[in-house]
Formats: sequence, structure tokens, C-alpha cells
Amino acid sequence: GATIGILGGGQLGRMIAMAAAQLGYRTHIYAPETSGPAADVSPSWTQGAYEDAAALAAFAEGVDVVTYEFENIDPSAVDVLASHGLVRPGAGALRIAQDRLAEKRFVADLGGLTAPFAPVDSLDDLETAIEMIGSRAILKTNRMGYDGKGQARINEPGDAVGAWNAIGRQPAILEGFVTFDQEYSVILVRGADGAVRFWDSAANVHVDGILATSTVPAGSLIEGQLPAARALAKQVADALDYVGVLTLEFFASADGPVFNEMAPRVHNSGHWTTEGALTSQFENHVRAICGLPLGDTGLAAQRVEMRNLIGDDAAEWLAILSDPENHLHLYGKHEARPGRKMGHVTRLSL
Ligand code: ATP
Ligand code: MG
Ligand code: MG
Repeated sequence: GATIGILGGGQLGRMIAMAAAQLGYRTHIYAPETSGPAADVSPSWTQGAYEDAAALAAFAEGVDVVTYEFENIDPSAVDVLASHGLVRPGAGALRIAQDRLAEKRFVADLGGLTAPFAPVDSLDDLETAIEMIGSRAILKTNRMGYDGKGQARINEPGDAVGAWNAIGRQPAILEGFVTFDQEYSVILVRGADGAVRFWDSAANVHVDGILATSTVPAGSLIEGQLPAARALAKQVADALDYVGVLTLEFFASADGPVFNEMAPRVHNSGHWTTEGALTSQFENHVRAICGLPLGDTGLAAQRVEMRNLIGDDAAEWLAILSDPENHLHLYGKHEARPGRKMGHVTRLSL
């Protein structure tokens, strides 16, 4: 059996490792931590920094393909990996998707609609950007943000200083505030041969910047936008010669799909696919990066809802299990901090 190397040892790595095991692959995690949710599933684990070129090279040499569950890795680390073995998705996808400015420019160049945006590298830049874009805006760090972290809302020009300080005065992007009705994601898998399959898109509801629920079917408003959103997502995947699962987040606005951000990996808004689709995002990611034929992404139920268990929500796990229709996933995290994703629950209506 071959071995899949995974950068990052969180719950996404855990679920990729579970799918890999089902298909007879071993996994080897590389992460800065000594342990994490993936450790329960993947007995091989290298604790190493993403800056440690020698350790990364040894990791890449020891596995058959490298993938990642986490895109916030220094680009030079990706180059090291790519020079020592196969990295899927490739370094190009990771470079773009880890930088909000680069990903917005990339998608805008392909003809996709985005919020108005401008680069911000100083308080002066921010003030100029607010004049251009307007004062209803969001300042986001270019790198490392997730679950709404590294973002500051702006409502009036006087908010500039506070926002610049709040994000730690680092390279950022100012985005105009988009008025939208709903949010959704397009999740696709692209095989090594270029074949592309889409899952149904879920309607995603965020609370406090964190995904709360994903529901399929997403409803007619979102479904009406899917042809355009999927065409854009496919263009992105093809342009990057992408192999694996790719996620694009969209706002459903009156003007059509507005691209928000992409993730070069399996995604929380696709967790419903484990029970709700004929082939999960995790299994198809493994199939794609291993050069195997892709599985059917069709629905396994009439309706599917995935709810995240955040912080203390996970304490209800026994009550959740008392309803036999609930499928419970816990990530094996020991400490339930506020805002921390501890698990999720999926419900199907057949
Ligand atoms: P994720 O956990 O999805 O990676 P993130 O930290 O990268 O989150 P974003 O996806 O950029 O953050 O933003 C989080 C949420 O904030 C969005 O899903 C949306 O609800 C809201 N939001 C972000 N940007 C905008 C915008 N330009 N206009 C309106 N709402 C926005
Ligand atoms: Mg994000
Ligand atoms: Mg997001």
C-alpha cells in the first residue's frame, strides 16, 4: 500500500486519513504540534515546523504523494515539498489560495464577480481604500485568517485606525461590504486526468464569522446561480491544473454569484457529504490525489443538514445520539474553547 502525506493534523486531516484507510492507504501527518485530531487515525506523525526545509524534504521523500488540510503554509515550504515529490493540489493553487489578495485578483482576472477590493499595507493605504470603496467595508489580513479571525468591520472613515490596529497592522485587503441574501459553496473534485465532478451546493449559515450549518438542497435562489458559480469554479480548477477537492465560497447577491474566497482542500461546508452524498469529499480527495477514478458525487438523501458543534455544543453529544437519525462526528479534541470546532452532526431526510 502507498502512503499519503498530509500537512496538518486537525479534523480535516483526520477525516482524510479515515477515507484513506478505507481505501487501503496509510497516512503520515506532518504538523508543528506533537499531536492533534488526526493522530487517532494516522499512527505516523512527524512533528516539525513548516519552515524546516530538511524535515519537510525527508517527509516528502518518505511518502508517495503529499496533500494538505491547511493552506496557511509558507510558500517556500511548498517549493521544498514539490522539489522532493508529488504535491497535490500543486504549489500554485496553494500560493494563490493562501493569499486573499492573490485569490481575488486571480478570480477577477478569470471574469468572476468579487466585492470591490484594494490592497492595504499601511494606514495611509487604508484611508485611500476607504475613499475608493466606501466606508461599509471589511479589512482582512491577507494571510492566515480563518473562522472570521484577522478581520475588522469598518462602518465609517473614523474606524480606520482601530481596524488597522485590530488586525495587527499587517498586509491586508479592504473589501466592500457585499449585500447578499444567502451564502453557499461550490465544492468540486478534479481528477489527475482533468475530470471534474461537483457536489450539490449547500446553503451555509455563519454565526459570528464561523460556519454554523450547511443545508442541501440550498433552495431556488442559490440553485439559480449554480451554473455560473460552477463554471467559474471549473475555470479556476482548470487554470491551476488542480488535482483534488477545491472549494469556492460565494455570496448569492442580486447581481449573481459573488466570489468570497477559496480553499484548496476539503471544506467544513462539505462535511455533509460523508453521509449525504454517494461519495464523500474526503474519499474523492483521496481518489483524486492517488490518480484513481472519481466516485459519484450525487445525493444520498432528499435533504441533508450538517450542524457544527462549536465550543460547549459538544457537551450535548449523548442527547444528540439519543436521536437515532443523528450522525455524530467528534474530533477527539480535549478542550472545548469558545469558537472551537469540536465536531458536527449530520441529519438526512431520505
Ligand atoms: P472561513 O472559516 O470560511 O475560512 P474566513 O475567516 O476566511 O472564514 P471569510 O469567509 O472571508 O472569513 O468571512 C467570514 C464570513 O464573513 C463570510 O462567510 C460572510 O458571512 C462574512 N463576510 C466576509 N466578507 C464579506 C464581505 N465582503 N461582505 C459581506 N460579508 C462578508
Ligand atoms: Mg477562509
Ligand atoms: Mg470563508
